[in-house]
Amino acid sequence: MNRTRRVKIVATLGPASNTKQVILELTRAGADVFRINMSHASHDLMRETVKHIRDVEKELNFPIGIMVDLQGPKHRLGVFEKGEIDVKPGDFITLDNDPTPGTSERVQLPHKEILDAMDPGHRLLVNDGKVNLKVIETGSGWAKTEVISGTWLADKKGVNVPDSELTSGVLTDKDRKDLAAAIEEEIDWIALSFIQRPEDLAEPRKLCQGRVGLLAKIEKPQAVERLDDIIDLADAIMVARGDLGVEMPLELVPSIQKKMIRKCRKAGTPVVVATQMLESMISSPVPTRAEVSDVANAVYEGADAIMLSAESAAGDYPHEAVSTMNSIANSIETDKGYLSTILGQRPDPDPTGADAISYAAAEIADTLDLAAIVCFTASGSTGLRAARARPAKKILALSPVPKTARRLALTWGTQCVITPDAKDLDDMVDKACRIAFRENIAKPGERIIVTAGVPLRKSGSTNMLRIAYIGSDGQGSVYQSTS
Ligand code: PEP
Repeated sequence: MNRTRRVKIVATLGPASNTKQVILELTRAGADVFRINMSHASHDLMRETVKHIRDVEKELNFPIGIMVDLQGPKHRLGVFEKGEIDVKPGDFITLDNDPTPGTSERVQLPHKEILDAMDPGHRLLVNDGKVNLKVIETGSGWAKTEVISGTWLADKKGVNVPDSELTSGVLTDKDRKDLAAAIEEEIDWIALSFIQRPEDLAEPRKLCQGRVGLLAKIEKPQAVERLDDIIDLADAIMVARGDLGVEMPLELVPSIQKKMIRKCRKAGTPVVVATQMLESMISSPVPTRAEVSDVANAVYEGADAIMLSAESAAGDYPHEAVSTMNSIANSIETDKGYLSTILGQRPDPDPTGADAISYAAAEIADTLDLAAIVCFTASGSTGLRAARARPAKKILALSPVPKTARRLALTWGTQCVITPDAKDLDDMVDKACRIAFRENIAKPGERIIVTAGVPLRKSGSTNMLRIAYIGSDGQGSVYQSTS
């Protein structure tokens, strides 16, 4: 498959879509990466879904990324005597450690780490922020709160604590088991929920041992505050607007999204914009105008990927949701203003050989109107740096490592093909031409630019650039070279 779209599409799988047939249709419609949400999937279901995706990948001969999203420390209220209570602003309710069913005066909050971290003035946002409680007094194992807004509390409703920094790590016991099971399936990305600080990446990094990329979901104010350090340590970032919009004032989310995309583009770290992008398509075959604008904005900002959640996992129109996202992105990317907007925000190259080559390749490809930039990449680093330059021409990344090709499925503008290592420089140029021709990226008589790190397989050593013609038989001939 040869896509012309640069921004990638992540589609979450669930009951509406986790069969092989639907996964095949969603891939054809535009999905590049599939997300499996461990808040809803058992290990058996995760394994079965991974197998379907790999079968589709084989059938289409197209590397597909798989992201397993860990639930993380999701906090919930205990239970009430009658299952629920009515509340009104000005009421008081105490949260404590006692599992006895709750009343209108008190209820259990079965998370000691939250009760320990609470101070007067801290907020608890219950049920996606529909009820806002403010702590007015604390003691050992309890916190007295006042209802600031909201009308109703019920059993096991989710609780967000935006003002309290929790000392517990980011992985729960369930996450550790899910992570181990996911790594065995050779998935490509682990998404970490409720990251608060850069140190939260240490344990997952140790457990993963380089076998998967770590994507940090930014959904807490504490993580927004330490964004630079988290971006430095993570392999990818997600603007997780769902919980972010509960933990922070909604009106701040758009500017945080812009800031995060800018910072990630500067670092060369892939960034995904997620949640409610086409929310109305859960139950409607067409999106709202505002949703179309939201998707378009993320594309104009140069995000690496845009994500569907319930729209593709549990909605009535998963196929329509993916193809709508695909059409919006294609339409924006063919707008004359698109590339100038993207380039207007292009970060300067770092003073490294890799960036000098990647930026030069983007410029040469433009000046000479070449068909594509072809980069050889074993670890993915050459591919990532090429994408950081946001070139106008397509990036074809060739990798002998399936894991690298699949991981790059999340990266802007990069089409990957898995192919054995080239024997030498001539073979490299020939291979680049043959594959660009075979994938319908370049026609005979057109030229491509080839970049690589020599010696091959040495990560981060991008140091070679060549221009080559596609011969009449689809083979390559070197036109000019710089090494
Ligand atoms: C989010 O909160 O935006 C998000 C992507 O996380 P989840 O879907 O796990 O709530």
